[in-house]
Amino acid sequence: MANPSFAARSYRDDAVVLRTHKLGEADRIITLLTKHHGQVRAVAKGVRRTSSRFGARLEPFMVADLQLISGRNLDIVTQAVAKGAYGSSIAADYSRYTVAAVMTETAEKLTDADVDSGTAQYNLLVGALASLSRSDHPPELILDSYLLRALATGGWAPSFTNCARCGAAGPHTAFSAPLGGMICSNCRPPGSPAPAPATVILLAALLTGDWATADGSESVHRREAAGLVASYLQWHLERALKSLKHVERS
Ligand SMILES: [Zn+2]
Repeated sequence: MANPSFAARSYRDDAVVLRTHKLGEADRIITLLTKHHGQVRAVAKGVRRTSSRFGARLEPFMVADLQLISGRNLDIVTQAVAKGAYGSSIAADYSRYTVAAVMTETAEKLTDADVDSGTAQYNLLVGALASLSRSDHPPELILDSYLLRALATGGWAPSFTNCARCGAAGPHTAFSAPLGGMICSNCRPPGSPAPAPATVILLAALLTGDWATADGSESVHRREAAGLVASYLQWHLERALKSLKHVERS
């Protein structure tokens, strides 16, 4: 007879593989971002055997329809059906691979503590991986657009028009990662960078998904935008991780 508690602990969800690590001889622990259950860590038994029924469906960046059993510490993957074979086309190209690695690492950090935005973060990440695998746009632009939107979804929406601190109508000339984007001359802390106006237009386009503007940008402005996105990401992710540590201690 089937164990009813076993059946009750079984669930099905779509998920993207964020990260894997080896467990014992043939197993792996898979860190997943699921569509409806947030971030999940699960064991895939026998996945490293060549005869594994999972094949390559549980590699990083893969999207799959999974059957899982919830456990006390780790869930167990019992079935995996591939949904998007993004992993293979991304892994075949170094620049795409490095971009996808930053995206999944960011998604892992942003969804570690925040359960509420899980579905939105899932949709955003899967969309970005699909776009990356199809080479819809230059990989570095897909990355920066993803990072800005993932941070906005996590509650740290940057402002590239009105002043991020006082709301004064823009455009403004100074950028501050701690204050949340472009800032007016009254709010500007000393030493704030003043990016080129075309860089600010590019940042706004990446945040809103205005790809006609983003694809038409010049490389000098892409580089400057990438530096500002990186500083914004670093500032807000560090704060997110600090707040997480605080929660765990108390
Ligand atoms: Zn201001």
